[in-house]
Amino acid sequence: MKSFDAVVVGLGAMGSAALYHLARRGARVAGFDTYTPPHALGSSHGETRMIREAYYEDTRYVPLLQRAYELWHETTREAGNELIVETGAVYAGPPNAELIAGILRAGKDHNIAINELSGSTLSIGAPWLRVPDNMVAVAEARGGYLHPERCIESHLRLAANMGAEIHTGEPVVHWEAAGDSVVVETKRERYGAARLVLSPGAGITDWLAGADVRTTVTRQPMFWFEPGPNAASLRTVFAIQIDEQRLLYGFPDLGGGVKTSIHYGGTATTWESIDRTIDFAEAKETAELCERYLPGVHGKVMRAVVCMYTNTADFHFLIDAHPAHQNVLLVSACSGHGFKFASAIGEAASQWALDGAPKLDLSLFSLDRLRSRP
Ligand SMILES: Cc1cc2nc3c(=O)[nH]c(=O)nc-3n(C[C@H](O)[C@H](O)[C@H](O)COP(=O)(O)OP(=O)(O)OC[C@H]3O[C@@H](n4cnc5c(N)ncnc54)[C@H](O)[C@@H]3O)c2cc1C
Repeated sequence: MKSFDAVVVGLGAMGSAALYHLARRGARVAGFDTYTPPHALGSSHGETRMIREAYYEDTRYVPLLQRAYELWHETTREAGNELIVETGAVYAGPPNAELIAGILRAGKDHNIAINELSGSTLSIGAPWLRVPDNMVAVAEARGGYLHPERCIESHLRLAANMGAEIHTGEPVVHWEAAGDSVVVETKRERYGAARLVLSPGAGITDWLAGADVRTTVTRQPMFWFEPGPNAASLRTVFAIQIDEQRLLYGFPDLGGGVKTSIHYGGTATTWESIDRTIDFAEAKETAELCERYLPGVHGKVMRAVVCMYTNTADFHFLIDAHPAHQNVLLVSACSGHGFKFASAIGEAASQWALDGAPKLDLSLFSLDRLRSRP
């Protein structure tokens, strides 16, 4: 049986980054995926993923995020491919609701400049945005987007160049850990390793038996609209809080239309049963919200694609050692906002595998806080 220092299962956003960082450290490493990433059957497709620095979800994400920015820029240079674009970001919402209050808190805690947009600063900074009376608008300079497919392709290519074995079209059907070693079984062969990184995205639900943790998968459509007469003025990424739980968010037109979607509120599904067919009628609510907040930016819907969120009960990530096997690291679920962190999470996974612990504090993502929930 062939043996490695570490094996990575699932080579999407998190797994491709983990494989790259392990190979960069000189580890003998192999990665496995059911498909051939980057692909459109997981959670990492659709041309753009937003990156934001003043993290409203929890200010404790910011150090990991700042490391992620550094690594995305570093890998951009190494791969010779544009992975990250810092366009700036504009946000709108009720002042005391989660989005705006959280951004202001993260800005204050981490000394990130947050600029209020109103009157002339609004008409110069976000001429496309209509802000209703109950909302305020703010901006941060380092918001922007990543090219997800290019990020995954670059991590995998660089990892292979450094000696990583990449097994695509080879699903892992079983793994078992005993003492200090792990055996991973695919339909073709069995492989041994000292450490196992489990990063199968929505497939994590299959591997959590015995861990006493529940994750849920939701179906999340993405829409591209024909650019309207005001589309050219939209040059930043944006997010608008539309109710207590959900955001309308989107990107400038990169040539294929204005991509806009709703964050959270997708229907429950599973990795195996998700309906990937999509009717343009599903864009109705998104189109109406665009008309309300971004008049003239969007025309008719021209493309729609389905994706998946894998959510924990509190919508923070799950990154921790398996409770029964300290040499197995769980790196999912990322609850619909993980892509921007993948570079830093991949690095942290390599530190966990090779040094015993990550350098940055990942206790926010611990398994225990999920087990204690009803
Ligand atoms: C519509 C949408 C919009 C989003 N927007 C943003 C955003 O703007 N910013 C942001 O930061 N995040 C965003 N996210 C979230 C982010 O994209 C995800 O958190 C992230 O991509 C998840 O990466 P992953 O590696 O966990 O999963 P994936 O990238 O899906 O990778 C999992 C891989 O594991 C493989 N796999 C599964 N089971 C097995 C097995 N048994 N054996 C081998 N391989 C297996 C799969 O084939 C897949 O390639 C968005 C997500 C969606 C769906």
